[in-house]
Amino acid sequence: MTTRFRLIQVACVWVVLIAHSPSGVNANEVVARTSGGDLRAGAAVADITPPLGELVVGGFEPFPAAVIHDKLHARCLVLDDGRTQLGFVICDSVGIPREIFDEAREEIAEQTTLLPQNVLMAATHTHSATRANTEKYRPVLVRGIVESVRLAMANLEPAKIGWSGIDEPSQVFNRRWYVSDPDLRRNPYGGVDQVRMNPVRNHPSLVKPAGPIDPEISVLSVQSSDGRPIAVLANYSLHYVGNVNKGDVSADYFGVFAERIAELLDTKSANPPFVGLLTNGTSGDINNVNFREPRSSEERYEKINLVADLVANHVKEACDNIEYNERVTLGSQHRELTLKRRKPDATTRNYIAEVLAKSDDSPTYHAQERYHGAAAQRQFEGPDEVAVPLQAFRIGNLAIAALPFEVFVEIGLELKEKTPFADTFTIELANSSEGYLPTPAQHELGGYETWLGTNRVQKDASVLIVEQVLDMFNQLAKEPAVK
Ligand SMILES: [Zn+2]
Repeated sequence: MTTRFRLIQVACVWVVLIAHSPSGVNANEVVARTSGGDLRAGAAVADITPPLGELVVGGFEPFPAAVIHDKLHARCLVLDDGRTQLGFVICDSVGIPREIFDEAREEIAEQTTLLPQNVLMAATHTHSATRANTEKYRPVLVRGIVESVRLAMANLEPAKIGWSGIDEPSQVFNRRWYVSDPDLRRNPYGGVDQVRMNPVRNHPSLVKPAGPIDPEISVLSVQSSDGRPIAVLANYSLHYVGNVNKGDVSADYFGVFAERIAELLDTKSANPPFVGLLTNGTSGDINNVNFREPRSSEERYEKINLVADLVANHVKEACDNIEYNERVTLGSQHRELTLKRRKPDATTRNYIAEVLAKSDDSPTYHAQERYHGAAAQRQFEGPDEVAVPLQAFRIGNLAIAALPFEVFVEIGLELKEKTPFADTFTIELANSSEGYLPTPAQHELGGYETWLGTNRVQKDASVLIVEQVLDMFNQLAKEPAVK
């Protein structure tokens, strides 16, 4: 079969699923490839640093990139058991729209033997990266993603693999809080929520966090058959760390981790170079701020270095104790799920119209009412549905889910609890960037991540997604593991 023909066939698989099924998913058409055998692995890195002047988008107000503090990278790991190849590409970006990932996916299919649906691409969610979809930057990003995969494929060699998890609860905090003062819970649509995102630290109105945390650092470690580290892919449910200079481009703690773990594993002179990848878990409602304590006076980048060092040291410890295997079962599943997009009701639309018609010096009910009003208006005018890509990988008795949202931690915890596999983790902002994904219970509480525009899909989307992911896991689990 020619590459071109396979590409067209595969592209159809990603798209056609939606059209044929009332629920948006047709299980019969889902491609499942599970196999097992002697492992080969390769890893590589490509530069995706944006040009200066592109807009840094992590904060509320985009700001032109003025300094490259540290370079941004696409980091790739490829696993191959002789029949199935899986690729991971982790990009230092705040979020990458689906059309950019898909453009890279098509080029990967043309230039390599990797099946496009077997490539998991994700953004780390560093807040000090620039907008992905600009005329200048988009080609840099696509080229980097494709290059990292081509180089990783060229580096494939006999390998062994192992995984484990280790807890570090001290750097993750639920950022949604019950606060006693209703004025602090106002929303931009004229109402009062039950909870507030990022309340003032150490404030007398703080009651308790509105949700849990996930303390686990998951670790997937790959070595050459003679024990040289090839790559480590870790996963932690932490939004990002931050505290960089305004206008700095930086990979945040994800980039420092990659450097630090290379040092700790003593791989600085390895050839091919060792690759550390830190993926973002389910951190839609999790950040690095201890709200019970007053703000401390850290230097810029101090906390980034501290958290990266702590996580890297845990990962090193995990790597030292992992049992490695040269034979492993690899598998992949993917689906498209069609979700309804949320729309403002008539009352909210009237309220927004009034807000947007106000003069600039009029008093406001909520500081960002205009911004969120405009976002809700765009939702109203936009399409009624969106098809989102869901993906699940199996590596032995480890399962990895890939979801295209900023996923609430409860969802990752539920998948870890209900998975049929011994170990499981989720990579967020994968294969697209579709806004926040709260649970229905968190929607009831309100707060920033549930507002129209920050959350764009139906309120029970997480229930449908968990159902689909668990079904994909169960399909993958049916294949017996290799001996
Ligand atoms: Zn964010």
